[in-house]
Amino acid sequence: MVTTRATSDRVPDRRVARGRFAPSPTGPLHFGSLVAALGSFLEARRHGGEWLVRIEDVDMPRTAPGATMAILRALEWYGLHWDGPVVHQSQRAVHYQAALELLLDAGWVYPCTCSRQTLAGCSRGRDGAPIHPGTCRSGPHRLDRPSALRLRVTNASLTFQDAIQGEYRQQLERDVGDFVLRRADGVFAYQLAVVVDDAAQGVTHVVRGADLLDSTPRQIYLQRLLGLSTPDYAHLPVVVDARGDKLSKQTGAPPLDERRVGPTLTAALRFLGQRPPPELATEPVATIIAWAVAHWDLTLVGARIRSDPSDTPTN
Ligand code: GLU
Repeated sequence: MVTTRATSDRVPDRRVARGRFAPSPTGPLHFGSLVAALGSFLEARRHGGEWLVRIEDVDMPRTAPGATMAILRALEWYGLHWDGPVVHQSQRAVHYQAALELLLDAGWVYPCTCSRQTLAGCSRGRDGAPIHPGTCRSGPHRLDRPSALRLRVTNASLTFQDAIQGEYRQQLERDVGDFVLRRADGVFAYQLAVVVDDAAQGVTHVVRGADLLDSTPRQIYLQRLLGLSTPDYAHLPVVVDARGDKLSKQTGAPPLDERRVGPTLTAALRFLGQRPPPELATEPVATIIAWAVAHWDLTLVGARIRSDPSDTPTN
């Protein structure tokens, strides 16, 4: 373990329950991201806690112009009012660099020049990415190209208890391989940024889509190396379209219709296994949210990884 806690830019108050919604601003909010926002909001509020919004724009070239404003505006229509200032990852590179240096100094990180082509023959992890076999651990292959920085992992079994999906176990070396913390083009990886930010913001309850379930052991591993505490995790079923693909801008998810806020919110609640009375859909947004906070029950959210909204009971 690295002993200094230089990654926290302020000391968060751990007595306060704190959740967060951390969208990547690649497009406007759609039904799938609304479900993630609503689930994390309700879990935080049910604990009497705060709910933060963090814009994950660490990979600037992938961000869509206007998406951040569109997401924030949509959260407001849906009555999902956040606490404190919105944090932007694009402004936090100094904190990611500090964490990286701790890991470098402790010998956990090494430069890697493997190209996509070099890794083409490797077996693939659950997310489809090649499992890096640690080839560059004892020195990069090519000195003539910029290197990514990779974290050395171990094969110890890493288990955590997800509040919805139950026990989840991985052996990082076997299942994921050494993973990138900073890309060769200098962009910090999601895995590092999310761990640094969740700790710096004092997040105690991470509620997000189950597409990120298999990232969680990597995040817990990083937390342990950096001496940071591990929040509680709950991974919600991911909303899929009729073809079974996760709703996203890339798969053509329609943006939310601002004229149908009530019916959309109650559909999102039903997707999350909650049982709003049918007449709630025509009530003002504040009434729907108040009902949802008062009745929120995480145990009603089914332990499904992916789900089509049409599977959802109507009340
Ligand atoms: N930025 C990620 C996304 O939009 C979510 C990250 C997280 O919740 O940890 O998929």
